[in-house]
Amino acid sequence: MSTTQVPYFAFRDYPAGIAQQVEEALLGALLSQQYILGEAVEQFESEFARYVQAGMTIGVGNGYDALVVALKAAGIGAGDEVIVPANTFIATVNAVVQVGAIPVLAEPDRHTCNLTAAEAAAHVTSRTRAVIPVHLYGQACEMDGLMALAQQHQLVLIEDFAQAQGASYKGRPVGGFGRVSATSFYPTKNLGALGDGGAVVTSDPELAAYAHMYRNYGQQQKYHNQIIGINSRLDALQAAVLCIKLQHLDAMNSERQRLAQVYLTALQGIGDLVLPVTATGCTHVYHIFNIRSRQRKALQLYLSAQGIQTAIHYPVPVHLQEAYTWLGYGTGNFPVAEELAETSLSLPLFPGMAEAEQGAVIANIQTFFERHG
Ligand SMILES: *Cc1c(COP(=O)(O)O)cnc(C)c1O
Repeated sequence: MSTTQVPYFAFRDYPAGIAQQVEEALLGALLSQQYILGEAVEQFESEFARYVQAGMTIGVGNGYDALVVALKAAGIGAGDEVIVPANTFIATVNAVVQVGAIPVLAEPDRHTCNLTAAEAAAHVTSRTRAVIPVHLYGQACEMDGLMALAQQHQLVLIEDFAQAQGASYKGRPVGGFGRVSATSFYPTKNLGALGDGGAVVTSDPELAAYAHMYRNYGQQQKYHNQIIGINSRLDALQAAVLCIKLQHLDAMNSERQRLAQVYLTALQGIGDLVLPVTATGCTHVYHIFNIRSRQRKALQLYLSAQGIQTAIHYPVPVHLQEAYTWLGYGTGNFPVAEELAETSLSLPLFPGMAEAEQGAVIANIQTFFERHG
């Protein structure tokens, strides 16, 4: 039995030297005395746009605001229906409500856990205006079908790629498929800041101009307000940090993928475990390494007793959240989302995780199933 303590997530100096580079960038931003918007924000915006192969990036305060700004820019509002997956972080759905639109939930695919065109199509009505695929856990959604569906019904395709910076579909990075897309730089995301941050990405100049104004009180020129906007600007210090982190994003994602392969090989065929499945044409950057078991609760308790932290993404599907009873859904409406909520467990996986740490996770899972299998 192992006594190695394994955190669910930790900030490590990976790749080596990045911590020092981040410190220097922070100091530089401090000395520049440009704290709101300005050069560092603009530099990050242009580098991130290039990275996701989209025309423009508009840095905002957090991932939730990015979704709200994206929806507003796309003209989504009162009475519009927006199709969203039933298993996602609550931000995706709250943002739809924030702009006055109605979230319409759809089942995820039972293998990839992502929204598919077939599931989304079942919910299209004459009021549907947009669809928001979420590249959940870090795996790109199968975009061909979703883009065709959006085109067929003239829906705005909005990607939520908060968990999947650097993932791609058929060789193209996620974030660049939607008419407009949103992401988060919450510290633990694959591309994480040292506080809150987010971005809207679009190749449509009109939407970009709207987002640009909307995040800054609706003004293009100081004190001249064209629309009623909000204050949600990417912080300049965070932008300086993100410029450094972006340079290492591919290396950090490759390390996540290497760690995931170790888990996939070692945990295959154990007990009733269901391991993550990556669809053809999609890449997975393992923001979350999600396993499933009917014995999730006992397994989590056992690992915890051995000093191994895990997490659950997410214990309650959107349609069964108290905040969403008004949508009128109930138990049994989305069996796949409900099963995911009951059986999912997220294992520790982060760049810089030590071999001994991962070995301890694997050994303890094996021991658990030898006793409970
Ligand atoms: C993290 C996350 C968000 C929200 O990001 P914040 O920066 O925390 O507001 C939105 N959608 C998904 C899928 C996320 O994982």
